[in-house]
Amino acid sequence: MTNEQATDASPSVVLPCQFCGAWNRVLTSRARDRPKCGECGKPMLLDRPFPLSDETFERVIAEAGVPVLVDFYADWCGPCKMMAPEIDAFAARNAGEVFTAKLDTDRNQVTAQRFNIRGIPTLIRFAGGARTAEQSGAMRLADIERFAGIE
Ligand SMILES: [Zn+2]
Repeated sequence: MTNEQATDASPSVVLPCQFCGAWNRVLTSRARDRPKCGECGKPMLLDRPFPLSDETFERVIAEAGVPVLVDFYADWCGPCKMMAPEIDAFAARNAGEVFTAKLDTDRNQVTAQRFNIRGIPTLIRFAGGARTAEQSGAMRLADIERFAGIE
């Protein structure tokens, strides 16, 4: 089930609530307003990297109305930790323009293998459900913005 929060022409993303798991369609124009889950009323946080999983990855990427930037990482990875604040800053600055997500490659090996992730961190940019760019290695905010196509 998907809770329709609004219908108009602006792009939206379809996301599982991080608290109850219900799928919600959220207008990206409302990304900074902490939109609430239609099921449980808890906030949908779009201004920080959104955790994806093997179960949710495909639908979120396929239905996103804006480009999606995914940080493939693991908890033990030093360069991933170095890049985490840069990704956080990117997500906060570009909420609504780009949907920023992350995938723990240890816990979600099906997706990591599907995208042939060899080194982490790896950033992959998706648009219209397809992979459009990929880069491995820690990046600073300015490099992430360039990679994501933000000028
Ligand atoms: Zn919920």
